[in-house]
Amino acid sequence: ATLSGARPAAAAEPYLDPSLPVPQRVADLMSRMSLDEKLGQMTQAERGSASAADVTQYRLGSILSGGGSAPSPNTAAAWADMTDGLQRGALATPLKIPLLYGSDAVHGHNNVVGATIFPHNIGLGATRDPALAQQVGRVTADEVRGTGVQWTFSPCLCVARNDRWGRTYESFGEKPELPVSMATIIDGYQGGGVLATAKHYVGDGGTTGGVDQGDTQISEADLRAIHLPPFQEAIRRNVASVMISFSSWNGQKMHGNDYLINGVLKGELGFTGFVVSDWNGIDQIEGGEGFTASEVRRAVNAGIDMVMVPTAWKSFITTLRGEVQAGRVTQARIDDAVRRILTKKFEYGLFERPFADRTLTGTVGNAAHRQVARQAVRESQVLLKNTGVLPLAKSGRIFVAGKSADDIGLQSGGWTVSWQGAAGNTTPGTTILQGIRAAAPGATVTYNASGSGIDRSYGVAVAVVGETPYAEGQGDRPGSLGLDATDLQTLSTLKASGVPVVVVLVSGRPLDIAAQLPDWSALLAAWLPGTEGSGVADVLFGDYAPTGKLPVTWMQSASQEPINDGDGKPSLFPYGFGLTYTTTPPGAPGQPGTPVVSAVTSTSATLTWTAPTSGTAAATYRIDRSGTPVATVPTTSYQLTGLTPGSTTTYTVTAIDAAGNAGPASAAVTVTTPSAPSSSCAVTYAVNDWGGGFTGSVTIKNTGSATLSSWTLA
Ligand code: BGC
Repeated sequence: ATLSGARPAAAAEPYLDPSLPVPQRVADLMSRMSLDEKLGQMTQAERGSASAADVTQYRLGSILSGGGSAPSPNTAAAWADMTDGLQRGALATPLKIPLLYGSDAVHGHNNVVGATIFPHNIGLGATRDPALAQQVGRVTADEVRGTGVQWTFSPCLCVARNDRWGRTYESFGEKPELPVSMATIIDGYQGGGVLATAKHYVGDGGTTGGVDQGDTQISEADLRAIHLPPFQEAIRRNVASVMISFSSWNGQKMHGNDYLINGVLKGELGFTGFVVSDWNGIDQIEGGEGFTASEVRRAVNAGIDMVMVPTAWKSFITTLRGEVQAGRVTQARIDDAVRRILTKKFEYGLFERPFADRTLTGTVGNAAHRQVARQAVRESQVLLKNTGVLPLAKSGRIFVAGKSADDIGLQSGGWTVSWQGAAGNTTPGTTILQGIRAAAPGATVTYNASGSGIDRSYGVAVAVVGETPYAEGQGDRPGSLGLDATDLQTLSTLKASGVPVVVVLVSGRPLDIAAQLPDWSALLAAWLPGTEGSGVADVLFGDYAPTGKLPVTWMQSASQEPINDGDGKPSLFPYGFGLTYTTTPPGAPGQPGTPVVSAVTSTSATLTWTAPTSGTAAATYRIDRSGTPVATVPTTSYQLTGLTPGSTTTYTVTAIDAAGNAGPASAAVTVTTPSAPSSSCAVTYAVNDWGGGFTGSVTIKNTGSATLSSWTLA
């Protein structure tokens, strides 16, 4: 992201000469700066509490829009005028150091009405598509730069380990591999000329009880294994900034953690960008309201380079100056912080292009950008259950219900126009209901939020239900993680009608739905899709066959929290689970159906699978053992014999036609035989192709106490 802009005709000072290397420009500029000019660079104020004149007088280095803080009217053009006005304040200083304007563009440029709003990170994690994440970042960067913002406080690389946490939806998933792979979004932002922020360093998603800003009580080995890898990856991708977490690690606030910031982040991981605090984060180092001199000292000495002090920025500057003058913060530390900040300002071309890119202002929320968001929505949908009712036909009578069916605000969640988000059509977009109507012009679509008016004449009911918006700690749920009373009422009305119900769940995390699931014919996890509800409709009608995979383990009950992959707790749906549609569903001709193993003794077992019922049903099946065909059978039940006691053997069942050609899918079954008569044994099975690569396990229990001849699936 280095500069390729126009060079000023005759740059008087070397630092204004874009042809010189950045380190040289930084050194030249710093040699001209007073202490107060340096302290200003380290200070970030909120736009509501700092004017352009303040920027000039106090030499402020950065301004932010906190969640929902926007000019009036809240339009892209007004944003560009606002940021340019503040920038003129910065350029009116003797050294003309441009201001760096930051904002939480965490799912698109979400503070701006009319922007393209993408799925929140949990939905992007479900896509497992790093190239898409990069594209999302790139589109967002264009919208951001069109408003004069040069820095986004994104991506949140938290590894959310407890669904009770109100920021779970800001996470790409519960295992580090997801934020690591989706860190490509950084390339999108930064390739588009916008500084990215890896946040929140470190362990924000691991707090005990899923409490926001809480305490992550884990060993250093676990902290490094679970929460550190995404930051390592972000640094590998040259992320410009890292934001410190409000949380503590084993009782110590991260904002004062010299070991993890100076030692690990800057030392061990070699981070050369700058570290920014979170909103008033330094105040919390020693508890209490507001910051003390020792909190300022500890934060800066721990390695924080820029401090987000939204309103108390004047006293921050005074306090930090006092600490420097008293020798408690060294000049070298100040110089290091300022060098890091200025390096990024030069690298991103701020000195040459300080103002909003007006060629991009008009692209905010344009059709091309929304098309990328729609694709992201499609890929983020996770199909969790389907008895065959999906994909929907584009004809007949469809009843749509649920409070989230026709509401942009609900489908976008928190961090949308306002910090907490809000119900209602707060910004332009397509609701899920509008998407359904547009996708099926030949169908009769009736909508009633509560479900009233439904009757058996309808072929199917689509219930769009879920969470109402929240952000940060306001989304913490120490109690129930279930559906709210409104949704439960709607669902019971639909159930009473006898019409098959497809549930589209709009939520920032898994909800406790095990009790209702048997009532539903299909379940689609839509997460918080953002403004492009048509992407949900694309999946419902099969214009896009679902590909999303769970980025988190889905609890059987909220009492299991925290529940994560690998912890051995039985889930409702495992991490990575996700169904799709097939042209030939399981059991149809050409496919063997899901095999089930039963009657497992130490030397034999029975394999059964669903029989084809129509068409060229006379398929024959080939049974492979570790890749070698052991049998070709015309039946849908096969006795495996000659097994070795206490061994594990994998079989594959493939349907073959009369010419011996294998069908489009196969199913793998692993049989583990008991080494001696025992009361139970485990059988794991994997279904390829049609089941989206589902892997699961069942326990087979001996129903008779004495013999091993009779077994049932437990
Ligand atoms: C959040 C950060 C955010 C900052 C600025 C804080 O409350 O924790 O994620 O970047 O506000 O809006």
